Amino acid sequence: MVAQVIDGKAFAAKVRAQVADQVAKLKEENGITPGLAVVLVGEDPASQVYVRSKGKQTVEVGMNSYEHKLEANTSEEDLLALIDKLNSDPAVHGILVQLPLPKHLNEDLVINSIDPAKDVDGFHISNVGLLGTGQKSMVPCTPLGCLMMLREHHGSLSGMDAVVIGRSNIVGKPMAQLLLGDSCTVTIAHSRTKDLPDVVRRADIVVAAVGRPEMVPGDWIKEGATVIDVGINRIERDGKNKLVGDVDYASAAERAGAITPVPGGVGPMTIACLLANTLTACCRANGLPEPEGLTA
Ligand code: NDP
Repeated sequence: MVAQVIDGKAFAAKVRAQVADQVAKLKEENGITPGLAVVLVGEDPASQVYVRSKGKQTVEVGMNSYEHKLEANTSEEDLLALIDKLNSDPAVHGILVQLPLPKHLNEDLVINSIDPAKDVDGFHISNVGLLGTGQKSMVPCTPLGCLMMLREHHGSLSGMDAVVIGRSNIVGKPMAQLLLGDSCTVTIAHSRTKDLPDVVRRADIVVAAVGRPEMVPGDWIKEGATVIDVGINRIERDGKNKLVGDVDYASAAERAGAITPVPGGVGPMTIACLLANTLTACCRANGLPEPEGLTA
């Protein structure tokens, strides 16, 4: 079997177009422009790239982008004061604090100071609890993007066996909750899992979110399974820098029914889902119907 490639880049463009369409309608019919505030503390180069990209795409879909760049030595008090201000600003519908934060700042405290209704990253403890209990919440962007791609490919996921490799708070755990919400039978694997190959071989859906280059070989993949590769790993091969996933793409593509490439799979969906979440937050804040197909 040669796997169908799930083109995350094209799907993300479709999601952004849907968001842009809804934003235009909101402006025209309700006089509302959704606004996303991104807070960056310090000068981590990767974070700077992400923040720039988020700001650019926010503006491209017609939303307002508010960037707040703070010095690396910003005090917790000052950061919390800024979040407080953004929480009460009616022009701001989504707030994202770029992680990781410098070591002297308490990430949990900072994230939990964001108004849960504006927490477009879905990391606030209230949103984690709402998702875990199957209630309406803000859903973390990367797992939301994975879910959208799976739904687009399969229609219903009901009754499928899904394995999520990785149990982080930002990807693995919320991914498992979302799959459970769509009635999959879910296994969460991690570094202590006994016989990971056997666990993966039973799965109709494999979501790999580990951070280890090409650790899942093709012969772990059940014939016809759908593989979603969240991993982004920078490696050097043949003297060149390269991005690879957590799955060995070449061998997995020979057995899977469908697979996301790296790059061009899950990655582009993450920012598209951030924009979708900001639109959702704006609609909820204004008592308007939520955009269809852009929420969990
Ligand atoms: P974390 O490091 O927080 O979590 C990694 C998880 O993998 C842990 O639960 C760990 O288990 C598990 N793990 C580690 N080694 C093994 C192993 N040998 N076998 C099975 N499980 C193992 O990573 P994140 O969840 O933050 O990110 C995972 C990957 O996804 C990274 O490559 C990251 O760059 C990428 N990513 C991509 C995004 C995108 O937009 N596409 C967004 C976010 C992340 P344990 O808990 O036992 O230690």
